[in-house]
Amino acid sequence: MIKEALEEAASALKEVSATARLDAELLLCKVTGQSRTGLIAAHYDYLSDASLSNYRELVARRRSFQPIAYLTGSKEFFGLEFIVNPAVLVPRPETELLVDAALREIDKRTGSIGILDLGTGSGCIAVSLAAELLKRRRAFQMTAIDRDPDALEVAKLNARRHGVDDLIEFRRSDWFSEIPGGARFDVILSNPPYVKRDAQDLSPELQFEPDGALYAEDGGLSCIEELISKLDIYLGEGGFFCCEIGQGQSQAVTEIITSRLSGSSLFESGTLLDLAGIERVVYVRLLKRVDLNKIG
Ligand code: GLN
Repeated sequence: MIKEALEEAASALKEVSATARLDAELLLCKVTGQSRTGLIAAHYDYLSDASLSNYRELVARRRSFQPIAYLTGSKEFFGLEFIVNPAVLVPRPETELLVDAALREIDKRTGSIGILDLGTGSGCIAVSLAAELLKRRRAFQMTAIDRDPDALEVAKLNARRHGVDDLIEFRRSDWFSEIPGGARFDVILSNPPYVKRDAQDLSPELQFEPDGALYAEDGGLSCIEELISKLDIYLGEGGFFCCEIGQGQSQAVTEIITSRLSGSSLFESGTLLDLAGIERVVYVRLLKRVDLNKIG
């Protein structure tokens, strides 16, 4: 019976997941093709032997800490369902902060907006932002890059799924490597890798996610620094850069911003808190470029 299968799975998952019952339900939805409410209505139905064995296999994989999103193949982000597989990081709820911040910024502006998403992964940031801008009838040009072709394939599928594939140019690029030097963007967004390589106490689920999307050198700061070091080239005057950072990195990132930008620009920067009260996003508004040749 469905009810018994769920109970068995929830108890098997208790020690590995804080959301054991939910995980059990999501995996059974995957196997049966039913919604969660559909499953409750079918509590006393029987599962076929094949379904039961599929289900037990998924539960066993979950017990070995495989992320639920890889097992179901999908994850909700900003109200949309995203296809995910192990080529891409599982979208996290805190990353929605970047989309919110970009929308607030874009709402203050008029005209067409040039947007760049660096390290797009599943495409969750680019696609959800494009879908929102489309709803608001805003004009924009969006480029989303990733250096991993497999990730780009997933991002393209997600763009098609949400009807924005014609509105985003996906390009293979290692950060700015394939972005022409003269290009200047109004909004640059990124959720780069920022986990310190030898960090302790990492969630065991991370071992299943792509290393290249998680880990960075220099205590997790190398990619963030790489992005900030190019802002004076790629961010237009009045432009907005918004980047996810790791817990405890805000001071170091703020120092990087000051040292990289204060020679060439007038700017303001700050951080945004996630729901857990952690400084999770850093932003820079480039107010004015300063031509050093013209000073004294
Ligand atoms: N937020 C992820 C975590 O769970 C890391 C994602 C990233 O490095 N961008 O640690």
